[in-house]
Amino acid sequence: MPIYEYVCPDCEFKFELLRPVSQASEAASCPRCHQSAERVLSTFACFSTDESGLTSPVGGNPCASCDATTCDTCDI
Ligand SMILES: [Zn+2]
Repeated sequence: MPIYEYVCPDCEFKFELLRPVSQASEAASCPRCHQSAERVLSTFACFSTDESGLTSPVGGNPCASCDATTCDTCDI
C-alpha cells in the first residue's frame, strides 16, 4: 500500500497516510483540526518491485512496472 502525503489548507499541517490507491485522491482528515486535507501531488513517487523483491522509487512517467499511463501501483 503506497504512502501519500497530504497538507491541511487550514493549519498547513503536513502528514502522511498509508492508504489504498483507490482512495489516494480522496480528501483526508487533518489530524490536528479535522479539516479536509488535500493530497500533495508534488511529492508523488512511483514505486516498483524488481526481481530481487526490493521496492525502489522510480521517477518519471510511465512507471517501470507497466507502460500504461495508469496502473494499480502508481496512481497516475
Ligand atoms: Zn489542519
